[in-house]
Amino acid sequence: MSAALETRVRNFIAGEWRDSRASEWLDVVDPASAAVLARVPLAPAAEVGEAVAAAVRAFPEWRRTPVTDRIQPLFKLKDLLERHREELARTITMECGKTLAESRGEIQRAIENVEVACGAPILLQGDFSEDISAGIDEFVIRQPLGVCAAICPFNFPGMIPFWFLPYAVACGNTYVVKPSEKVPLTMQRVFELLAQIGLPPGVVNLVNGTRDTVEALLEHPDIRAISFVGSTPVARHVYARAAATGKRAQCQGGAKNPIVVLPDADLGAATRIAADSAFGCAGQRCLAASLAITIGEAHEPFRDAIAEAAASRVVGCGLDEKVQMGPVISAASKARIEGLIDRGLQGGARAAVDGRPTVVRGFERGHFLGPTVLDHLDPRSELAGTEVFGPVLGLVQVRTIEEAIALVNRGAYGNMACVFTASGADARRFRAEVEVGNVGINLGIAAPMAFFPFSGAKASFFGDLHGQGRHAIEFFTQTKVVVERWPREWSRKF
Ligand code: NAD
Repeated sequence: MSAALETRVRNFIAGEWRDSRASEWLDVVDPASAAVLARVPLAPAAEVGEAVAAAVRAFPEWRRTPVTDRIQPLFKLKDLLERHREELARTITMECGKTLAESRGEIQRAIENVEVACGAPILLQGDFSEDISAGIDEFVIRQPLGVCAAICPFNFPGMIPFWFLPYAVACGNTYVVKPSEKVPLTMQRVFELLAQIGLPPGVVNLVNGTRDTVEALLEHPDIRAISFVGSTPVARHVYARAAATGKRAQCQGGAKNPIVVLPDADLGAATRIAADSAFGCAGQRCLAASLAITIGEAHEPFRDAIAEAAASRVVGCGLDEKVQMGPVISAASKARIEGLIDRGLQGGARAAVDGRPTVVRGFERGHFLGPTVLDHLDPRSELAGTEVFGPVLGLVQVRTIEEAIALVNRGAYGNMACVFTASGADARRFRAEVEVGNVGINLGIAAPMAFFPFSGAKASFFGDLHGQGRHAIEFFTQTKVVVERWPREWSRKF
């Protein structure tokens, strides 16, 4: 079934598709054409309750299923995701706007998380110490928490649920996913695949909606853990509510990612990589470069080269294989980004490239905004400190690596920072001193592989354990410490 033919998005509860009884519905809009692809329900609390109840019912048997059996459906899922990769990529592109190549890459990242979660039998192993005192042994076992839930953003509709779901399920939990209401179609398709892999009914569930649906998840007493990815204000709110209602939480927030360019860097390579980081996915990546801090004489050549890369990027509908950058998600998002550019220019920045007049022939109603490069940005301006989440790169020039690191650390966010240099000493210092979760050295997108945590710091992350890899296994399990003694004289009694 093609996503375009689906008109009403459904919930998946207790192993079956259910029509929502929601009184409010929103349009799901193709950002390239502005065509309405489907309608998404804002599921009421009662439907969240049904999904959680199904997950509660499924939990006792699923947690007792041996881990070696629990991972078998995940092997099937990997196979199905690979076989449906192209169709999933097209669905992502249609509802989210990114290019087909970017959507294929996103599905690959989802698959890699399934692969890592298949290592649960060894990842779940505990620790054992024999004879911590005479005749006494002590060990740690990891047990599932119960019902857990993910609340996801619009920009990676296929990948982000996979930072959590495969690990949660492999650990013996049961799960509820709430996709972004802007891009619910990819999870419709993924859950059609999840329905085929042999999971018992209720192990995975899908509810659609927005704010009220999230509140219902946060307030539900049977949900033990929440994974959130989205903007910082909502991340902060979800973290606070989760703490107040006694839930474990990991909340990934927004970002303002700087890249630092030293004069000794290979400027050709640095520019190509920086352009991919700033303008790939139309700048709607939480690891998108948004601020380029150039040091000394790196400034002019970097500015000229990045301006050329920006101006020559092919903007259009992501379904066209020749296109290098798609639209931003919505008209509201486009207007917000244009406002930030306006105020940046009023504050003294100069447009090396201004993407605002971009129009794509045949897609005049689409939410397109060309790559934009703003030079001489005041480091204290609104634009220098605000997450843009669009294809806009601001340039700030400083004199030394010390100044650059201080500027990076002055920012409120801490998702990623990158440095381009040929100096190991400068790179090492940067790596040690920048206060961010993900560091790139001669890289523009320091995206952790599935077997590493997807890190984040400061206003970009609230919690302790991140998504992916071992962190996810720890997040989705409760450690239990057992201290035991089996004195010989006691056993003789029986
Ligand atoms: P968003 O915060 O608007 O929405 C995220 C989720 O929260 C959605 O499911 C939405 O329905 C829900 N939501 C929105 N408003 C809410 C409210 N007031 N109360 C409760 N729930 C609410 O984020 P978005 O626009 O979908 O995604 C973009 C943001 O996500 C950017 O800030 C980006 O940096 C961030 N992001 C971060 C990471 C990371 O790893 N740190 C990864 C991807 C995206």
